[in-house]
Amino acid sequence: MERDTIRQEIEKLREIIRQHDYRYYVLNQPTVTDDEYDALMRKLQELEKNYPEYLTADSPTQRVAGKPQDGFPPFLHFQPLLSLSNAVEEDDIREFDQRLQRLLNQNQAEYVVELKIDGLAINLRYEEGILTHGATRGDGTVGEDVTPNIRTIKTIPLRLLGDKIPQVIEIQGEIFMGKNAFNRLNQERIAKNEPPFANPRNAAAGSLRQLDPRMTATRELHLFVYGATLIESNLSPITHWELLMYLKELGFMVNPYIQLVSSIEEVIDIHRKWEKKRKQLEYEIDGLVIKLNSLPDRSRLGSTSKSPRWAIAYKFEATTEMTRILNIEVNV
Ligand code: NAD
Repeated sequence: MERDTIRQEIEKLREIIRQHDYRYYVLNQPTVTDDEYDALMRKLQELEKNYPEYLTADSPTQRVAGKPQDGFPPFLHFQPLLSLSNAVEEDDIREFDQRLQRLLNQNQAEYVVELKIDGLAINLRYEEGILTHGATRGDGTVGEDVTPNIRTIKTIPLRLLGDKIPQVIEIQGEIFMGKNAFNRLNQERIAKNEPPFANPRNAAAGSLRQLDPRMTATRELHLFVYGATLIESNLSPITHWELLMYLKELGFMVNPYIQLVSSIEEVIDIHRKWEKKRKQLEYEIDGLVIKLNSLPDRSRLGSTSKSPRWAIAYKFEATTEMTRILNIEVNV
């Protein structure tokens, strides 16, 4: 391909992705499926990898997408809420494992395998055991402070439980709406001549980002937590698994299907199993998240500006129909 044509294709892809980001993160009205979006992103990443001279700092591949919306006060996360690098191919997952072992100079790594819940990320701050703030991810650094809305969600403790209360902690998790609640909500909306939500993820995001918390209170939202930053605390867990058990003690819902594994082939088996079983769950998942269990090793690996090096989203395969739509879109 001519270099000019490549540059133009890169720019066109970026523009398409920016439009999708805006519709997804700001308006909550996506016009393509996530699989289609992911394939566009992968295509852009591949072109930028092969033609690094065209890589620019403002490319959608270089940042955590999303934007705080006007109407909510800004909230500065103690630690940035990053995105995840992702893969769909088994070989990419094996490569991730190899890379980690190489960087850590080890010949085996232990992972926690979690379901990738299709909702929206939230960061909760507790001071002396009391919920003080709840914020969306926003652009990763600054989120939208949606505390009054967060307080209406019954699976979020307003006061932490147990006898190991940290002085200051920020807890991350995924807010989601179950499939039945989503269907009920859409039926009500259609009956009232209101536009239905495209999927449970959009319904959850739209419900949480209501300016009137009374509206959020009518929606059935839940939270699974999957991470935390102990800002001031006497405890210092050394594995992610330990941290998750601690979050349970504090009164949070941790997804019951988390698994601790010590080989990447086990991870691949678990993925195959969930690919078949995902429909049986009452909430939507779009893959698994594979996380290194050792917290000191995670610190050694660190993160890029967009995603941690110690985790990867292992997404489910797109359907052929979706790929066909994508080809038309990319080649216009
Ligand atoms: P991502 O959704 O691929 O992964 C990161 C997110 O996963 C986290 O922020 C968190 O919210 C979530 N998550 C769920 N379970 C988790 C767990 N157990 N541990 C850690 N995180 C967990 O990346 P992203 O940056 O949030 O969003 C990009 C994705 O959004 C794309 O891959 C695409 O699927 C979708 N998207 C779609 C459109 C569209 O138009 N359809 C537009 C933009 C983005």
